[in-house]
Formats: sequence, C-alpha cells, structure tokens
Amino acid sequence: MPDQPSQFDGARVLADLHALRGIGAYKTGVHKPTFSEAHMRSLAWLAERLPEAGLAAEIDGIGNVLGTSAKSGPKLLAGSHLESQNYAGWLDGPLGVVYALEAARVLNPDPKVGGAVEVASWCDEEGHFGSFLGSRSYVGALTEADIDAARDRNSPRSMRDALREVGLAGRPRARAMRGRHIGYLEAHIEQGETLESSGLAIGVVTSIVGIWQYKISFEGEQNHAGTTRMAIRRDAGLALARFCVEIDDRFPGACGPRTVWTTGQITLDPGAPSIIPGHAEMLFQIRDADPAVIARLEDLLRSMAADVTAQGRCSVAVECIRTGAPALMDGAIQEAIETASADFAGGRSIRMPSGAGHDAQILATIMPAGMLFVPSIGGISHHWTENTADADIVTGARVFVETCRRLLAR
Ligand SMILES: [Zn+2]
Repeated sequence: MPDQPSQFDGARVLADLHALRGIGAYKTGVHKPTFSEAHMRSLAWLAERLPEAGLAAEIDGIGNVLGTSAKSGPKLLAGSHLESQNYAGWLDGPLGVVYALEAARVLNPDPKVGGAVEVASWCDEEGHFGSFLGSRSYVGALTEADIDAARDRNSPRSMRDALREVGLAGRPRARAMRGRHIGYLEAHIEQGETLESSGLAIGVVTSIVGIWQYKISFEGEQNHAGTTRMAIRRDAGLALARFCVEIDDRFPGACGPRTVWTTGQITLDPGAPSIIPGHAEMLFQIRDADPAVIARLEDLLRSMAADVTAQGRCSVAVECIRTGAPALMDGAIQEAIETASADFAGGRSIRMPSGAGHDAQILATIMPAGMLFVPSIGGISHHWTENTADADIVTGARVFVETCRRLLAR
C-alpha cells in the first residue's frame, strides 16, 4: 500500500460508474439480469479493482463479491448490488458499490485512519431468482433448500443451474463474522422525487418501509351475460371495482403522510366476455414505515369488506399474505451522514424513509445499518432513462467517504 494517503477523486467515481455502464449497455441504461454474462463481467470488474483499496477480493458461492481488509482496527462494511432490473437504469446498485470502493480507496491506505472500509456487492437484490438472496445468505438467513427452490423469473432455469453455468457451484458462501463490523453503510439513488423537488443533495434514510400484501376475494354468482337482468345480478367483478374505488376514497382519512397502496393484479373468474364473473380476486399492497398505520388500514379494509358482505350481493374476504416489519436505520449512522452533509453538501440534507426495499434492511438484522440517498432526475428508476446529475453523484460520493471516515473514527 502507498504511504501517501489517497485523495477523494470525483472524476474517478464518475469514470468507474461509466465503466460499469459500458458492460451490458442498453440505450442509456443497462440490461444485467442476475448471472447474465454482463452481470458476471461486472462482478469480475469489481474484484479486479478491490486490491487498489488494499482489499482481498472473493466471489462466493452465491455470487456475492466481498473485499476484506487485513488492516487492524474497526471495519465498516459498505456496498450495494451490480445486477439490474431488465432493460433498466445504470445507477441502481452500481452507485452504492462504486461509492464504497472510493471510500475504501481513500481511507484504507491512510495511516491516520484507524481501521478500514470493506466492500460488498450483494447478489440478486433485484429479485430475478428470489428475495435478497445474496445479503440473506451473508447474514445466515438463506438455507440450501431456499437455493434449491429458487428459479429465474424470466426463464425455466433454476438457481442451481445458473450457479453451475457461471462457475460458482460448490464454492463456499461467505458468512458475516459476528462482531467484525461496526456497521453497514449503503448509498443508493432515491428513485423518487423528494430530493430533486426540494433542491436537496442528500437523503438520510431513517427506515426502510415494510410491505404488507393482501389477497381480497369476492364471491358472487356466475351467470349468463345476456339473459340475467341487471337487478338480480351478483357480479363479483363489479364488486371488486367498486371496492378499489372505495379504498382510494377512504384510505386518505386513515393513512400516514407517506403511506402508499397499490392494486397490482386483478383476476376475474371465469374471465369471459359473455359470463358474469362469479368470483374475483385482487392482490393489494400497502407500504409504510409504521406498523400502527398498517394495522389501522387493515382494520379499515376488513370493515369495508364486512359492509359489502352485509349488503348481501357479494361476499368479500380479506387475507393477509405477506407482512414485513420496517427496518430502522441506526441513529448514530444517521447523525454521521447528517454532519458529513453539513460539511460537504452545504447542509442540503433531509431525513426520510425509503419506500423501496434494499439490502440494508437485511444487514440491519445483524448490525447497525444506514443509508444515504442522492437525487434521481425526475424521480425515475427501474427504466433505462434513470439518471442523476454528475454534480450530485460527486457530492454524494464525498459525503459517503466522509461519513465512513467519521464512523471509523468513533
Ligand atoms: Zn437497487
């Protein structure tokens, strides 16, 4: 390692991000599904860079890349992911990995910095094969049976086949060593428009929202669409449509300031133009950082369902099929991001929850975790036009490096 401490280099951060954008390029974004050729080349790219930061690189048996340091002193874990959604943006994932790499390059060789930043790229954050498979493996929450069951959502290929094809089958999976890390820090694009619309540079993430999902089923009576008079119909599809509209009318009176809800799928049974649907189903999702808000909204859903059933035409059943407790970000890490923002981003920061899921919520189950957001132009993400201004990318990187420095110095 050089004796001269290396300086923060914003141009180097941008050059690295553009190098990753050049692997699997699609229009101005990228197409890098998990275990695609472009994804694997991106992992190799990172593994080649890690020694520049004094880190020993390994790609483990589930596709996580980990850079570990032999330097004495506290270790801070930092990273994000390198695969993308299909035909999506260039910054979702790589931004956090390159920020972590830059922090390691600046801080690890510096003899005045006690300890080191260790870099991670978590596999399959975008869920091509499952849900946070890479980070769950690292924290010890993924079994061999989970991997046996994982399938590519875009092809019949199993995860086992994919691991074999890319040469990772049989490698050990890296596991977190309890007590090794003082915490985990992840940077990400906001993927919303809060920062841009307020002229802010940094989002200090307070929590990652929980996701609750419901299957709402409507029972009516299947019948002939030509001979059944309107007055006596028991149309389950119509009841479902009315229910959706009623949710939108009544939820605003009971929700929190940042609650969001979505009907993502509707099924009519039998689903034919000349048959009145006798059965209908909707998949309905609510996201919020406060379980009390979710509990209130779930009560409201159930009482609305009971009212419709009491009217006698159709019966409605509400079944909760997924619950997710929100992950709270560590208070001391939030403070470190905020003070670094005061010094290096003119104080243009705001505390905010994350409406999207991130690997930090998995790491938060075993160590203090924190997240920092940078603005997304137009709030657009999961699309190839996703972008962030160069100046915001560089400011975010500087704040990230200085946050790492503060955390290691505590
Ligand atoms: Zn992401």
